[in-house]
Amino acid sequence: MKILVAVKRVIDYNVKVRVKADKTNVDLANVKMAMNPFCEIAVEEAVRLKEKGVASEIIVISIGAKQCQEQIRTALALGADRGIHIETEGTPDSLSVAKLLAKVVAEEQPGLVILGKQAIDSDNNQTGQMLAALLDRPQATFASEVVVAADKVSVKREIDGGLQTIEVDLPAIITADLRLNEPRYASLPNIMKAKRKPLDVKTPEELGVVLSNNITLVSVEPPADRKAGIKVSSVAELVDKLKNEAKVLS
Ligand code: AMP
Repeated sequence: MKILVAVKRVIDYNVKVRVKADKTNVDLANVKMAMNPFCEIAVEEAVRLKEKGVASEIIVISIGAKQCQEQIRTALALGADRGIHIETEGTPDSLSVAKLLAKVVAEEQPGLVILGKQAIDSDNNQTGQMLAALLDRPQATFASEVVVAADKVSVKREIDGGLQTIEVDLPAIITADLRLNEPRYASLPNIMKAKRKPLDVKTPEELGVVLSNNITLVSVEPPADRKAGIKVSSVAELVDKLKNEAKVLS
Protein backbone atom coordinates (compact mmCIF):
# COMPACT_ATOMS: atom_id res chain seq x y z
CA MET A 1 0.00 0.00 0.00
CA LYS A 2 1.20 3.49 -0.86
CA ILE A 3 0.82 6.30 1.67
CA LEU A 4 0.63 9.93 0.62
CA VAL A 5 1.56 12.46 3.31
CA ALA A 6 0.84 16.18 2.92
CA VAL A 7 3.31 18.51 4.62
CA LYS A 8 2.98 22.26 4.93
CA ARG A 9 5.80 24.78 5.32
CA VAL A 10 4.93 27.13 8.18
CA ILE A 11 6.70 29.48 10.59
CA ASP A 12 8.73 27.39 13.05
CA TYR A 13 6.64 26.88 16.19
CA ASN A 14 9.48 28.19 18.38
CA VAL A 15 9.46 31.58 16.66
CA LYS A 16 7.59 34.49 18.24
CA VAL A 17 5.34 35.61 15.40
CA ARG A 18 5.38 39.34 14.58
CA VAL A 19 2.55 41.17 12.83
CA LYS A 20 3.49 43.58 10.03
CA ALA A 21 3.14 47.25 10.96
CA ASP A 22 0.28 47.72 8.44
CA LYS A 23 -1.52 44.63 9.91
CA THR A 24 -1.89 43.06 6.45
CA ASN A 25 -0.29 39.80 7.57
CA VAL A 26 2.36 38.29 9.81
CA ASP A 27 5.92 39.25 9.01
CA LEU A 28 7.76 36.45 7.20
CA ALA A 29 10.97 38.39 6.49
CA ASN A 30 14.00 36.46 7.81
CA VAL A 31 11.78 34.18 9.87
CA LYS A 32 12.76 30.55 10.45
CA MET A 33 10.36 28.21 8.65
CA ALA A 34 9.78 24.51 9.33
CA MET A 35 7.45 21.62 8.71
CA ASN A 36 4.06 22.06 10.40
CA PRO A 37 4.34 19.99 13.64
CA PHE A 38 1.17 17.95 12.91
CA CYS A 39 2.63 17.11 9.49
CA GLU A 40 5.80 15.80 11.19
CA ILE A 41 3.54 13.48 13.18
CA ALA A 42 1.81 12.42 9.93
CA VAL A 43 5.21 11.61 8.34
CA GLU A 44 6.30 9.67 11.44
CA GLU A 45 3.12 7.58 11.36
CA ALA A 46 3.65 6.75 7.70
CA VAL A 47 7.26 5.74 8.39
CA ARG A 48 6.14 3.51 11.28
CA LEU A 49 3.53 1.86 9.03
CA LYS A 50 6.27 1.20 6.48
CA GLU A 51 8.56 -0.22 9.17
CA LYS A 52 5.73 -2.59 10.21
CA GLY A 53 5.44 -3.77 6.60
CA VAL A 54 1.97 -2.23 6.17
CA ALA A 55 3.10 0.42 3.67
CA SER A 56 5.34 -0.20 0.68
CA GLU A 57 6.01 3.40 -0.37
CA ILE A 58 5.66 6.83 1.22
CA ILE A 59 5.14 9.82 -1.05
CA VAL A 60 5.33 13.24 0.54
CA ILE A 61 3.72 16.27 -1.04
CA SER A 62 3.91 19.99 -0.36
CA ILE A 63 2.17 22.87 -2.09
CA GLY A 64 3.55 26.37 -2.18
CA ALA A 65 6.67 28.32 -3.12
CA LYS A 66 9.95 26.65 -4.17
CA GLN A 67 11.22 26.72 -0.58
CA CYS A 68 8.66 24.01 0.33
CA GLN A 69 11.19 21.60 -1.12
CA GLU A 70 13.18 22.04 2.12
CA GLN A 71 10.29 20.48 4.08
CA ILE A 72 9.93 17.73 1.46
CA ARG A 73 13.67 16.94 1.88
CA THR A 74 13.19 16.83 5.65
CA ALA A 75 10.38 14.29 5.20
CA LEU A 76 12.60 12.28 2.84
CA ALA A 77 15.33 12.30 5.50
CA LEU A 78 12.79 11.00 8.03
CA GLY A 79 11.97 8.01 5.82
CA ALA A 80 9.66 9.04 2.96
CA ASP A 81 10.63 7.56 -0.43
CA ARG A 82 9.87 10.31 -2.91
CA GLY A 83 8.51 13.81 -3.00
CA ILE A 84 6.09 15.87 -5.07
CA HIS A 85 6.21 19.64 -4.98
CA ILE A 86 3.33 21.56 -6.50
CA GLU A 87 4.73 24.99 -7.11
CA THR A 88 2.40 27.94 -6.54
CA GLU A 89 2.83 31.59 -5.78
CA GLY A 90 2.14 32.06 -2.09
CA THR A 91 0.12 29.45 -0.25
CA PRO A 92 -3.28 28.56 -1.73
CA ASP A 93 -6.39 28.28 0.49
CA SER A 94 -7.48 24.92 1.92
CA LEU A 95 -9.98 24.16 -0.86
CA SER A 96 -7.34 24.68 -3.54
CA VAL A 97 -4.87 22.53 -1.60
CA ALA A 98 -7.53 19.82 -1.27
CA LYS A 99 -8.28 19.98 -5.02
CA LEU A 100 -4.58 19.63 -5.87
CA LEU A 101 -4.18 16.75 -3.42
CA ALA A 102 -7.26 15.07 -4.93
CA LYS A 103 -5.63 15.13 -8.39
CA VAL A 104 -2.45 13.58 -7.04
CA VAL A 105 -4.48 10.93 -5.20
CA ALA A 106 -6.23 10.09 -8.48
CA GLU A 107 -2.81 9.64 -10.15
CA GLU A 108 -1.03 7.80 -7.34
CA GLN A 109 -3.93 5.81 -5.82
CA PRO A 110 -2.56 5.68 -2.24
CA GLY A 111 -4.36 3.42 0.22
CA LEU A 112 -3.98 6.08 2.90
CA VAL A 113 -3.54 9.83 2.82
CA ILE A 114 -2.24 11.25 6.10
CA LEU A 115 -2.39 14.98 6.81
CA GLY A 116 -1.85 17.04 9.92
CA LYS A 117 -5.07 17.85 11.74
CA GLN A 118 -4.26 21.55 11.41
CA ALA A 119 -1.66 23.92 10.06
CA ILE A 120 -0.35 26.08 12.89
CA ASP A 121 -0.21 29.22 10.72
CA SER A 122 -3.76 29.44 9.36
CA ASP A 123 -5.32 27.16 12.03
CA ASN A 124 -7.89 26.06 9.45
CA ASN A 125 -8.36 22.38 10.33
CA GLN A 126 -10.21 21.69 7.11
CA THR A 127 -7.93 20.38 4.33
CA GLY A 128 -8.24 16.69 5.26
CA GLN A 129 -12.00 16.95 5.60
CA MET A 130 -12.29 18.75 2.24
CA LEU A 131 -10.06 16.17 0.56
CA ALA A 132 -12.20 13.31 1.88
CA ALA A 133 -15.33 15.05 0.60
CA LEU A 134 -13.84 15.71 -2.85
CA LEU A 135 -12.72 12.08 -3.16
CA ASP A 136 -15.82 10.67 -1.48
CA ARG A 137 -13.54 8.62 0.78
CA PRO A 138 -13.93 7.84 4.49
CA GLN A 139 -12.11 10.14 6.89
CA ALA A 140 -10.77 9.64 10.40
CA THR A 141 -9.74 12.99 11.85
CA PHE A 142 -7.75 13.81 15.03
CA ALA A 143 -6.12 10.37 15.09
CA SER A 144 -4.24 9.35 18.23
CA GLU A 145 -3.80 5.70 17.22
CA VAL A 146 -3.87 4.04 13.80
CA VAL A 147 -4.07 0.29 13.24
CA VAL A 148 -4.30 -1.04 9.69
CA ALA A 149 -5.77 -4.53 9.27
CA ALA A 150 -6.45 -5.95 5.80
CA ASP A 151 -8.75 -3.52 3.98
CA LYS A 152 -9.73 -1.48 7.04
CA VAL A 153 -8.10 0.96 9.40
CA SER A 154 -9.06 1.37 13.02
CA VAL A 155 -8.47 4.87 14.37
CA LYS A 156 -8.67 6.19 17.92
CA ARG A 157 -9.85 9.79 17.73
CA GLU A 158 -9.33 12.51 20.30
CA ILE A 159 -12.73 14.01 20.99
CA ASP A 160 -13.90 16.40 23.72
CA GLY A 161 -13.49 14.63 27.03
CA GLY A 162 -12.31 11.27 25.72
CA LEU A 163 -11.40 8.92 22.91
CA GLN A 164 -13.56 7.47 20.18
CA THR A 165 -12.53 4.42 18.13
CA ILE A 166 -13.81 4.15 14.59
CA GLU A 167 -13.12 1.73 11.77
CA VAL A 168 -13.08 2.96 8.19
CA ASP A 169 -12.61 1.19 4.88
CA LEU A 170 -9.44 1.73 2.88
CA PRO A 171 -8.66 3.82 0.92
CA ALA A 172 -9.13 6.52 3.54
CA ILE A 173 -8.00 9.93 4.74
CA ILE A 174 -6.50 10.37 8.22
CA THR A 175 -5.55 13.57 10.03
CA ALA A 176 -2.91 13.31 12.76
CA ASP A 177 -3.42 14.67 16.28
CA LEU A 178 -0.69 15.56 18.77
CA ARG A 179 -0.57 12.29 20.71
CA LEU A 180 -0.43 9.96 17.68
CA ASN A 181 3.34 9.53 18.08
CA GLU A 182 6.56 11.32 18.89
CA PRO A 183 8.41 12.13 15.67
CA ARG A 184 12.03 11.04 15.35
CA TYR A 185 14.92 13.30 14.39
CA ALA A 186 16.59 12.88 11.01
CA SER A 187 20.13 11.48 11.24
CA LEU A 188 22.95 13.12 9.30
CA PRO A 189 23.43 10.12 6.96
CA ASN A 190 19.70 10.13 6.21
CA ILE A 191 19.77 13.89 5.51
CA MET A 192 22.56 13.22 3.00
CA LYS A 193 20.70 10.25 1.45
CA ALA A 194 17.51 12.34 1.17
CA LYS A 195 19.27 14.68 -1.28
CA ARG A 196 19.34 11.86 -3.82
CA LYS A 197 15.70 10.75 -3.41
CA PRO A 198 13.37 11.66 -6.31
CA LEU A 199 11.41 14.92 -6.09
CA ASP A 200 8.95 15.79 -8.89
CA VAL A 201 7.84 19.35 -9.44
CA LYS A 202 4.38 20.00 -10.91
CA THR A 203 2.16 23.02 -11.43
CA PRO A 204 -1.58 23.43 -10.79
CA GLU A 205 -2.03 23.93 -14.57
CA GLU A 206 -0.44 20.54 -15.30
CA LEU A 207 -2.91 18.99 -12.84
CA GLY A 208 -5.83 20.90 -14.39
CA VAL A 209 -6.66 22.78 -11.17
CA VAL A 210 -7.65 26.43 -11.13
CA LEU A 211 -6.79 27.85 -7.72
CA SER A 212 -9.80 29.40 -6.01
CA ASN A 213 -9.57 32.72 -4.33
CA ASN A 214 -12.51 32.67 -1.95
CA ILE A 215 -10.84 34.13 1.10
CA THR A 216 -9.46 37.65 1.55
CA LEU A 217 -7.24 38.31 4.54
CA VAL A 218 -8.63 41.56 5.89
CA SER A 219 -6.29 42.23 8.81
CA VAL A 220 -4.13 40.53 11.43
CA GLU A 221 -3.95 41.78 15.03
CA PRO A 222 -1.40 40.68 17.60
CA PRO A 223 -2.82 39.44 20.93
CA ALA A 224 -3.25 42.14 23.59
CA ASP A 225 -0.13 42.62 25.73
CA ARG A 226 -0.32 40.79 29.06
CA LYS A 227 0.50 42.53 32.30
CA ALA A 228 3.79 41.34 33.76
CA GLY A 229 3.43 38.70 36.47
CA ILE A 230 4.62 39.11 40.05
CA LYS A 231 6.20 36.76 42.58
CA VAL A 232 4.45 36.38 45.91
CA SER A 233 6.35 35.47 49.06
CA SER A 234 3.72 33.25 50.71
CA VAL A 235 0.49 31.34 50.17
CA ALA A 236 -1.28 33.85 52.40
CA GLU A 237 -0.18 36.71 50.15
CA LEU A 238 -1.34 34.77 47.07
CA VAL A 239 -4.77 34.11 48.59
CA ASP A 240 -5.01 37.77 49.61
CA LYS A 241 -4.24 38.94 46.07
CA LEU A 242 -6.66 36.46 44.51
CA LYS A 243 -9.38 37.70 46.89
CA ASN A 244 -8.76 41.42 46.94
CA GLU A 245 -6.99 42.27 43.66
CA ALA A 246 -8.00 39.66 41.07
CA LYS A 247 -11.32 39.12 42.92
CA VAL A 248 -11.49 35.51 41.72
CA LEU A 249 -11.90 34.14 45.27
CA SER A 250 -14.47 35.22 47.79
P1 AMP B 1 -5.31 23.15 7.47
O1 AMP B 1 -6.60 22.55 7.02
O2 AMP B 1 -4.85 24.30 6.60
O3 AMP B 1 -5.28 23.49 8.93
O4 AMP B 1 -4.17 22.05 7.24
C1 AMP B 1 -4.32 20.71 7.65
C2 AMP B 1 -3.30 19.84 6.97
O5 AMP B 1 -3.48 19.91 5.54
C3 AMP B 1 -1.84 20.22 7.17
O6 AMP B 1 -1.33 19.72 8.40
C4 AMP B 1 -1.20 19.52 5.97
O7 AMP B 1 -1.09 18.12 6.19
C5 AMP B 1 -2.24 19.76 4.88
N1 AMP B 1 -1.92 21.00 4.13
C6 AMP B 1 -2.48 22.22 4.28
N2 AMP B 1 -1.90 23.11 3.44
C7 AMP B 1 -0.92 22.44 2.77
C8 AMP B 1 0.04 22.79 1.78
N3 AMP B 1 0.15 24.03 1.30
N4 AMP B 1 0.88 21.82 1.32
C9 AMP B 1 0.78 20.55 1.80
N5 AMP B 1 -0.10 20.17 2.73
C10 AMP B 1 -0.95 21.09 3.21
